[in-house]
Amino acid sequence: MDQKELRELEATCIQEEPPACRAGCPLGVDGRAFALAMARGDMDAARAVLEKSMPFAPITARLCEAPCEKFCVRKDLGGAISLGLLERLCIAEGQTKGKAMRLPARPKKVLVIGSGPSSLCVAFDLAKKGYPVMVRHLDAAPGGWLRGLPESVLPPHILTDEVNRLGALHVSFQTAPVLNAALIAEHAADAIYVGQDDTIADDLLEQLTLPDPVTFALEKSGWFTGGMNMTDSATRFITAISHGREAAVSIDRFLQGASLTLSRVLLRNGHTALYTNTKGVKPRPRVTPANPTGYTREEAMAEAGRCLDCQCLECVKHCVYLKDNDGYPKTYARRVFNNLAIVQGMRQANKFINSCSLCGQCEVVCPNDFSMASMCLDARREMVRTKRMPPSAHWFALEEMRSAKSEQAALACHAPGTSGSTALFFPGCQLGGIRPDQTMRLYEKLLELEPKTGIWLDCCAAPAHWAGREDEFSGLARQLEATWDDMGRPVVITACSTCLKMFRDHLPSLNAVSVWAVLAAHDVRPVAGSAALALSDPCTSRHDAETRNAVRVLLRSASQPLADLPMSGELTECCGFGGLMDNANPALARKVAQTRVAQSDADFLTYCAMCREQLAKTGKPVLHILDLLFPETAHDASEAPAGISARRMNRRKLKNMILSRFGHDEMPRQQWESVGLVVAEPVAAMLEERRIMLDDLRQVLHQATRDGRWFRHGSDGRKIASAELGEVTFWAEVREDNGAFEVLRAWSHRMRIAGGRI
Ligand code: SF4
Ligand code: SF4
Ligand code: SF4
Repeated sequence: MDQKELRELEATCIQEEPPACRAGCPLGVDGRAFALAMARGDMDAARAVLEKSMPFAPITARLCEAPCEKFCVRKDLGGAISLGLLERLCIAEGQTKGKAMRLPARPKKVLVIGSGPSSLCVAFDLAKKGYPVMVRHLDAAPGGWLRGLPESVLPPHILTDEVNRLGALHVSFQTAPVLNAALIAEHAADAIYVGQDDTIADDLLEQLTLPDPVTFALEKSGWFTGGMNMTDSATRFITAISHGREAAVSIDRFLQGASLTLSRVLLRNGHTALYTNTKGVKPRPRVTPANPTGYTREEAMAEAGRCLDCQCLECVKHCVYLKDNDGYPKTYARRVFNNLAIVQGMRQANKFINSCSLCGQCEVVCPNDFSMASMCLDARREMVRTKRMPPSAHWFALEEMRSAKSEQAALACHAPGTSGSTALFFPGCQLGGIRPDQTMRLYEKLLELEPKTGIWLDCCAAPAHWAGREDEFSGLARQLEATWDDMGRPVVITACSTCLKMFRDHLPSLNAVSVWAVLAAHDVRPVAGSAALALSDPCTSRHDAETRNAVRVLLRSASQPLADLPMSGELTECCGFGGLMDNANPALARKVAQTRVAQSDADFLTYCAMCREQLAKTGKPVLHILDLLFPETAHDASEAPAGISARRMNRRKLKNMILSRFGHDEMPRQQWESVGLVVAEPVAAMLEERRIMLDDLRQVLHQATRDGRWFRHGSDGRKIASAELGEVTFWAEVREDNGAFEVLRAWSHRMRIAGGRI
């Protein structure tokens, strides 16, 4: 990822765009932060929000006509938040943080003619930037038409206090009998602002052409004006203030010799790219103040409490992984970029990049189609390419994949008594590993429907793809294609949504179809239970409506009642296995599964073997659709997951079942397979947690027995054996008992023992 790609990605996530109220405020006041502080009853914090953007907040908060309210997202859901009224109470009750800060003094001088709101705003903004400002005004005290407002609207002492504050910011005031052109010649100013919201003499007005609508600059260099045609405006005050603010920006740029227009943020017009989902938001009417002069504190808190806290975060709402990392995709893009850019030092985001399940839900719910899956997968590929991917990140999953593809487990052959196949059943390595008996039963059913259905036991190579190992994956994909070619290019029927997606995305020539679609087309009927089940679609079926519908057709044909699951179909959530999440971050994967099953009180039903495994780990009763299709082989919904050791052994078992069904010899047993083990429940859980399989321990103990190499440990018969299997060294502490080994402990690491052997 380069800087340009990073910026493009960041721009796709619009979470940091302003809420509509802020976008609709000519001063850019953050109405969301203000309303949230008011809802908490924190008037001081709310006032600080106002003072950040408002000139002389005690006046502006009282007089602003709140044009922002017409953009408020609450507008059609009970009425816009009454930001204007809330501001009034806030300014009366909240304490200011102190006086406005002034930047170091600058030499250029500014002359302001008139003292209406636009002029006072120019003086305030430029004085804060360090410019000395001279204001020429009519009458005894500055303020223009503000001085004529009733006391109930603007008490005169507040105007006087704010004018005095401007004095503290080095704004000088000088009266003039008339605001005419001659005044300008009295001052050696570097920039001039004429506020037309005060009484300007005709001879000066005649010198003012129409200003530029964005910069408020006049044709005459260094001259600016604002506050035109204000008298009848329904937003007389705030429009004048906004003219003053824009003119002040222009004057500052002019005095610094900068472009008046380059990268300029235009006057706010209510437009924002921020998406706010209001689905399910109930209308709540505005709080009407009991006293027409304004809200009480309690009324204000209730009114502010109606604020929707407009945010996007659509993706974060539904993804435990995104939620758990305290940010959103825009911030995550920067995190991934920084991780890839580091040459030396700790790459803190490796685990983050490897923890996404690549399930694609975020892209579906995002209004801008931001894909965390693409970003994380690209990052993994780059890490593999540049040899920065820690070998341990995906080690176990890749070993699993290679084992499923080994001679011990893989097989491709035509149906018994046939020399060709019109179809080829590819159950997928997980179904074969988790439910070998049901896989066999399903194959028999397919043979009934089409006797020339061959069988293909293998792995679709998804783990290599998810791990970002492009070269390994494309090599494996070519091997798969070659096998299919050798089998006469039949239709591939798979029982795994991941395999189906992998084939369709990467080997489209295979014309893969879902076994559930085949069964539905042949009117095969499951046997339904009476209790409603929550149907959890695997995330790899997200874009496969055909398979999802086929499963529903099967269930409908049996009148199986289904319970509501909020996120299903295209919006379905991952079980925590996909994208190797479970490998990189098992704790997160557990949380993902727990969050998923918590979405319904009903027992779950799925048509992905791995989803069944992951969801059942939480203790939730979960059925696989095969339990309904073939009740004679049904497993109990509460059955514990198979676990890694059983999966490995079951793949061998399935291959042997098929070989024997076809009249072939079973695979020769390896010597270590006969090593007997006794494993108590807690030790089995520890092995599962540490990703140590019984097969690994059998090999270690077989080697130790064969070579007579043991560490003796204690006087109670305990002994320790070790062996390097591939890249990993395994250790087992055991006690021999009646020709079997009772496993007491086991652990593994990626270090080699010095000298290569113990
Ligand atoms: S609901 Fe709240 S955050 Fe949203 S636009 Fe209205 S005031 Fe702003
Ligand atoms: S786990 Fe799924 S929803 Fe969450 S970020 Fe990854 S791809 Fe998106
Ligand atoms: S859904 Fe997520 S990625 Fe998309 S704009 Fe919203 S916060 Fe950003």
